[in-house]
Amino acid sequence: MKKTLSNLFTFPNIPSIAGHRFKLFNIESDRVMIALLIFQWFIATFVTSILYDTYYYGFFGSALIVLPIIFLYPYLKGQRYYRYFIAIAMMLFSVIFIQQYLGRIEMHFHIFIAMAILTLYKDVMPLIIAAATTILHHIVFNYLQFYEVSLFDMPVMVFNYGCGFDIVILHAIFVISELLVLGYITKLQIERTIILHNTEYQVTELNKELQHTSLHDVLTGLPNRLYLNEKIDILKQKAEENGKKFAVIFLDLDHFKNINDTLGHDIGDALLQTVANILKNCVTQNSLITRIGGDEFIIVVSDFDDTEYLLPIISNVLENFRKELFIKGYALQLSVSMGISIFPDDSSEIKELMKYADIAMYQAKANGRDNFSFFTQTINKKLHNEVDTINDMQRAFYDQEFKLYYQAKIDVKTKKIIGAEALLRWQHREKGLIGPDIFIPLAESTGFILSLGKFVIQESMSAIKRFNEIGYDDLIISINVSSRQFQKSDLYEDLKEALDINNIDTKNFGIEITESIMMEHIKKTLSTLNDIKKLGISIYIDDFGTGYSSLSYLKTFPIDVLKIDKSFIDDISENGNNNGLLLNTILAMGKSLDLKVVAEGVELKYQYDYLKEKDCDMIQGYYFAKPMNEKDFIELLKNSK
Ligand code: C2E
Ligand code: CA
Ligand code: CA
Repeated sequence: MKKTLSNLFTFPNIPSIAGHRFKLFNIESDRVMIALLIFQWFIATFVTSILYDTYYYGFFGSALIVLPIIFLYPYLKGQRYYRYFIAIAMMLFSVIFIQQYLGRIEMHFHIFIAMAILTLYKDVMPLIIAAATTILHHIVFNYLQFYEVSLFDMPVMVFNYGCGFDIVILHAIFVISELLVLGYITKLQIERTIILHNTEYQVTELNKELQHTSLHDVLTGLPNRLYLNEKIDILKQKAEENGKKFAVIFLDLDHFKNINDTLGHDIGDALLQTVANILKNCVTQNSLITRIGGDEFIIVVSDFDDTEYLLPIISNVLENFRKELFIKGYALQLSVSMGISIFPDDSSEIKELMKYADIAMYQAKANGRDNFSFFTQTINKKLHNEVDTINDMQRAFYDQEFKLYYQAKIDVKTKKIIGAEALLRWQHREKGLIGPDIFIPLAESTGFILSLGKFVIQESMSAIKRFNEIGYDDLIISINVSSRQFQKSDLYEDLKEALDINNIDTKNFGIEITESIMMEHIKKTLSTLNDIKKLGISIYIDDFGTGYSSLSYLKTFPIDVLKIDKSFIDDISENGNNNGLLLNTILAMGKSLDLKVVAEGVELKYQYDYLKEKDCDMIQGYYFAKPMNEKDFIELLKNSK
């Protein structure tokens, strides 16, 4: 019983997060109470003084209380003590009411106040209860007063009431129980409001979180494409209003795929996080950095007048990525390529700006990576040309404009031609000879490489047959297989089919693949290579040293020959100061793995001499022969006999 009673009026603590909302409630109820106070003041003093011609001074006297309350409102509103103060003032008026035979009005005010406060909690139920109790109260006391009945037959006049003391007590009991009920309802209301507030709070927090995750990239915490799309419109408006420029910088990591494929996604992920941090540290405060996909980032630098403003920012980014990055025990050498488009110089359309930045980025990659490029209409034109080229390739294919050239490989010791690399050329009917560096990437991007690849297999094998027929039956002719061709076509089936058709010995044939091809889908690649190897075809690793393949992989793959990339040959110096060369390491590596080694791009005598001294097996390069057509190659074979 005691517990229920005390429980009845223990009000819950208002949590601090809801404090603000309750303060607003309190201020609202202060306002209602002050309005009632003013109303009471008028009724109790001014109006009644006219009726009864008394208490004129009461009006002015009460003003001494009412006016300070009104003036203190801006300073004390919402504070508990302020509300007590108002309540006491109201009670004072109640006394005046009673003094003036207006007890019932006074009673109404109790209820009014309660109702007014309860209504603030936005519920009709307390209002109905309060109204019902008022009416009941009214009826009972009206009745009692009308008959001037005393319950206990003890007529005591209190405050000029026309009723007995017992009635006053009964009245008091009524009022007290009313207050209890109202108090209890208030408590419930407060509790409910707190719960409501908490739920609302949680919901908004959750919403905020959801909003954040949908607009941010989980891995790096950077805003994502969605966020960028939303934000960039605002940036554009701002730039238009202020007459300023902004730049869209499309940034792509060079060779990220290599790292991801060879070192694993954990390292790749950690690297991307590091990249995000580097970017945050090296662009200006008012730049927006977003990650829009795999290893692609878009940075928006806004608020500048002159494009030159960008240069230090861009070179800072490039510089920061040229340092070695240490990630989970690996020292990685990274670089980035950036394409930049400027609002409003290049376009005032967001979509176009993004596209142009993308195009410029590809230009930067084409220029050798670790680089940046501003968008220009020239690039755009070049792109249009590329599209034309792509469209033209199909026609050229049927018109048999694609030809294979052959570049001899020679044995370093004997200087004898032991084979050749077959290299594609496009003998264009109008434009002349077009190199593979131009059309292979385009063919790869459209899938046309699959047709071209098949053609190269077929054509090289029929050439081998022709070489055989004129007596050259121990040459090894190797073809290049590109990544897309390796992953998408059924290379093994294609090779087998062409072997059957041409009926040649597989010892005359080889394929060249790059390290990065090996490291893409390692399992599948390994089984394909094993199958190809079983046919008796030689396997060359092309551009060796430029990828990230590890020794353990080299051991697992069925490789016959390493082709050392030209860049390592370029490192050989004429004066013989070659001790620290990576080339030496690669040569030693080839020996220890029991692989043959070809040096590519040998152009000069001292390079040849050095390679000979280092026991390199074969060379290929302009020093001995350039790529040439079949007829010239046969001529070369004859002459070098
Ligand atoms: P790659 O496989 O690394 O081919 C070697 C490239 O180096 C050839 O360029 C060759 O002409 C060039 N080269 C050879 N010796 C020297 C030299 O002493 N100095 C210099 N500066 N360059 C030398 P090319 O023929 O322009 O081929 C470029 C690339 O195109 C090839 O690089 C290869 O990746 C690709 N490619 C060529 N033919 C085909 C093909 O039939 N299929 C595929 N998928 N790719 C091909
Ligand atoms: Ca090659
Ligand atoms: Ca090569």
